[in-house]
Amino acid sequence: SGEGIEGTMKSVEPSDAAISMYYGSKVIIVPGYGLAVAQAQHKLYEFVKLLQKNGVDVSFAIHPVAGRMPGHMNVLLAEAGVPYDIIHDLEDINEEFAQADAAIVIGANDVVNPAARTNKSSPIYGMPILNVDMAQQAYVVKRGQGKGYSGVENELFYADNTQMVYGDAQKVMVQMIEAVKSLG
Ligand code: NDP
Repeated sequence: SGEGIEGTMKSVEPSDAAISMYYGSKVIIVPGYGLAVAQAQHKLYEFVKLLQKNGVDVSFAIHPVAGRMPGHMNVLLAEAGVPYDIIHDLEDINEEFAQADAAIVIGANDVVNPAARTNKSSPIYGMPILNVDMAQQAYVVKRGQGKGYSGVENELFYADNTQMVYGDAQKVMVQMIEAVKSLG
């Protein structure tokens, strides 16, 4: 487990996470720097369209410092053709996580770390974060145990309602698309 953090990290296969989201009613997606590294935005939107076709309400939640430059995530999503009306800034969507069946974090880390709310000794203390931990189920797509830009451990990864989906973001999205398509 992480230094001083309670709980253990649990992992799930991309296919199981995808199928569970496919049968959900509300899913919120949190993109971060890893989405840009993996160039997974096109595959991500392909997956989103499959969820929407099944009636799932899908929204994107954008943290103001996600990625490595202002507006980084908006540029990526625009490149993939994601319509603006499903992309929301932190202050507009943060209350909605509590009503989401699932929140899926794709290559983000610091911007979803609950230590920012509670741990006064953390370098990110006081930064507003996206309330992924308040969704019924959180999925976190990342390659391994890599830390975020700030270099601190993330309590979210150890929470009871979090499952890690290990892999490169683009490869994971391809597996998620295949899983949902195989349902027919
Ligand atoms: P972070 O840098 O906190 O985390 C990115 C995560 O992406 C890593 O933990 C890494 O984990 C994962 N990752 C990397 N490559 C891949 C890949 N190919 N596939 C899947 N996952 C991958 O990102 P956030 O967007 O959450 O936060 C941005 C940070 O950058 C903040 O701390 C912010 O302050 C800082 N910053 C932002 C600027 C801006 O203007 N937006 C400017 C300068 C700094 P793993 O290695 O395990 O895959």
